[in-house]
Amino acid sequence: MEKIKCGVLGATGVVGQNYIRLLENHPWFQVVDVAASPQSAGKKYFDAVSDKWQMNRSVPEGVRDLIVRDVADTKAIPTDVKFYFSAMEMPKRDEEAAMEFEYAKLGYPVVSNSSANRSVDDVPMLIPEINADHINIIPIQQKNRGITKGGFVAVKPNCSIQSFMTPVFALMKAGFPIEKLIITTLQAVSGAGYPGVPSLDIVDNLVPFIGGEEAKTEKEPMKIFGKIGEKGIILFDQIKIGATCTRVPISDGHMASVSIKFKEKIPTEEQILKIWADFRGVPQELDLPFAPKQPIIYQKQENRPQPKKDRDNDKGMAVTVGRLRKDPVFDVKFIGLSHNTVRGAAGGGILNAELLKAKGFIK
Ligand code: NAP
Repeated sequence: MEKIKCGVLGATGVVGQNYIRLLENHPWFQVVDVAASPQSAGKKYFDAVSDKWQMNRSVPEGVRDLIVRDVADTKAIPTDVKFYFSAMEMPKRDEEAAMEFEYAKLGYPVVSNSSANRSVDDVPMLIPEINADHINIIPIQQKNRGITKGGFVAVKPNCSIQSFMTPVFALMKAGFPIEKLIITTLQAVSGAGYPGVPSLDIVDNLVPFIGGEEAKTEKEPMKIFGKIGEKGIILFDQIKIGATCTRVPISDGHMASVSIKFKEKIPTEEQILKIWADFRGVPQELDLPFAPKQPIIYQKQENRPQPKKDRDNDKGMAVTVGRLRKDPVFDVKFIGLSHNTVRGAAGGGILNAELLKAKGFIK
């Protein structure tokens, strides 16, 4: 099969570099265009990232000599590009949101990591194991905005929620509705991009605040659990979430401590472990290349999961959980972990693109 040519907007950042690394030998997609800020534009990709390359292997051959394009210079888009991954962090969020739709109006599907369009009603926010059906909002988005050439914007949620959403959804899907969640995240420094948190602020330290993160952790699940309405996604309103988000001195891997209050019946620990072990979603049914075989992995040892030992489970795409136990205040509690720049960012974006290709939205 001839690979579908794609580009990466924000290709020089932490998430962009992960796209370049993860797409190197992708069976369906090939990167032929890299774009970033005007500061990087005009340089060879290798030179643009030489001082800030964070991956543990060298820049892939097929990309190192590509000339970085200014994201705003849409006239220079190579003719063979069929869709874009977006990993931009522009100074102004409204400009970033508008830029993604400029690409959509030119006819490009934009599979985004940015938060700029996440709260927009007619933009699907996907965790394919949970709400793959939300891609059906795309024709409504195109109609709402007069997009006629097949472009659209689809996003993935904030990395902070990835480590608990699938385990929580699996329980809801199995017939155990949830009333309340209390969540405390311990988030890695790579979540702040490059250069991110100054080393003197985080070495030998923990920062109990990440701007905007608690609101995203409390609100984004409502859209993901929502339903498609006539004009956009109707938010789910049956769960209350309280979140505390902290930054910890870990390179990669976001952890979440989660307490659950069920609405009606409370599953036994044995039932929960079986629900998690048996859980599969659309990516597994479609056997998508980046789908983890086992989306939720339970670690039985009492001191797991740990970022260093568990973040790379199933190519960094699985959510690893552990420490399931009774909560004397709510009903049960557990610890979840996911790789923030893989499952929570570039890997999650690639899985979204695979779903969109499998369902005919990327051709
Ligand atoms: P980053 O390391 O700061 O990278 C930002 C990227 O945006 C760089 O490629 C940068 O290009 C580009 N950029 C900056 N200003 C621009 C402009 N005016 N026009 C066009 N491009 C511009 O950030 P990151 O961590 O990779 O995050 C990228 C996006 O993913 C953000 O929206 C973030 O919220 C989201 N996200 C990040 C994570 C994570 O774990 N890091 C997880 C989920 C989602 P230059 O190199 O040329 O400046």
